[in-house]
Amino acid sequence: MLKKCVVCGKEFNSKNGVITCSAECREIATKEKKKKYFKNYYEGNKDEIIKRIMRNKKR
Ligand SMILES: [Zn+2]
Repeated sequence: MLKKCVVCGKEFNSKNGVITCSAECREIATKEKKKKYFKNYYEGNKDEIIKRIMRNKKR
C-alpha cells in the first residue's frame, strides 16, 4: 500500500501499517511522539508533578 511518510512526506510502500519511509524517519517520528506525549502529560498533571518534586526536595 502506497503511503506518505509522516516525517518527510515521501511516498513509500507501507507494510504492517508503518507510517515512515525509513529507519531515520521512524526514529524522528518516535521522538516527536514521545515529546508530544510528555508535553500533554505534563500540561495535564503540572500541579501533581510540581508537588511531587517539592516533596522529594524536602527529604
Ligand atoms: Zn521519510
